[in-house]
Amino acid sequence: MNLALFRAFPNEHLFSLLLRLYKLSGYGDFITFQKNLGIQDRFLHATKVFSSTTEKLITHLEDRDETIKAHSVIPLWQMSVGQIIDVEDISLQLFNHMNEQQLFGFDTSWHSCKKCRQDDLVTYGTSYWHAKHQLPSVFECYKHHCTLDKGVEPIKNLFTEILPHQVVAWSPVLSRISGDLKCWQSFVWKIDVVSHDQPSIVADIKHRLIKLLGLNIQSLPKRKAICELHNPHFESALGPVLIKYIFRDYTRSTQRGKTNILSSMFANIHKAQGVRNPIYWVALAYWQRTKLGLN
Ligand SMILES: [Zn+2]
Repeated sequence: MNLALFRAFPNEHLFSLLLRLYKLSGYGDFITFQKNLGIQDRFLHATKVFSSTTEKLITHLEDRDETIKAHSVIPLWQMSVGQIIDVEDISLQLFNHMNEQQLFGFDTSWHSCKKCRQDDLVTYGTSYWHAKHQLPSVFECYKHHCTLDKGVEPIKNLFTEILPHQVVAWSPVLSRISGDLKCWQSFVWKIDVVSHDQPSIVADIKHRLIKLLGLNIQSLPKRKAICELHNPHFESALGPVLIKYIFRDYTRSTQRGKTNILSSMFANIHKAQGVRNPIYWVALAYWQRTKLGLN
């Protein structure tokens, strides 16, 4: 099957396209349909960015660069990868280890906008999952600016074959939207735009931050000390509402006390430096946005 013959709808997420094509295909089950495309994926999560499935789908479609930009959230991940990733010869599977998502306060299930669902049903005869609704921590529709919805029964996996109009009950992803959260979201959107238009700037932010914070050193104890020095400033710059919204562990105390975000990024012996969802880097850049010229 040549997927290039089929058109993805505007800003349709690649996994949504895969699901719709299966529904149109007449195949009796989703995995048999996938095997036909060289895919076998039972976990089609909104937060799964780098995978052999994504890579295969991109390969099946015509314009690699355009597909990545219009039908995935990959461009934002250039921030945590620290390099431009839409070049032809890079296999997205190399970054599989970066799909870490367990520590966030915001909902990570599939999100949808009520107005988009209504408009898409009228225009296309079906609804679909938009890529930009899945940008991490974003809570408003990029088109309508209304609050995004999540399933009352969260839709974690599109392998369950659900399109937005088939979801039985929705609830807003956020019930109280503060000025701090709005300001944060504007910044995420801004970084996302830059990641499309000037990817080298976004890919460089990580390296600039490491230098700016004096963390470009080998010694783990020294890095830890620097993190402990900076962390209170980082926390107070973001404010309690925002920091709890972004990082789940801030809302609960563990036996080791409160999570030190900077230490977990730069001085954790169990994890290689930089192996993180871009939200960590967006949060640091948000704190240092004046010095980075990102205001
Ligand atoms: Zn919308």
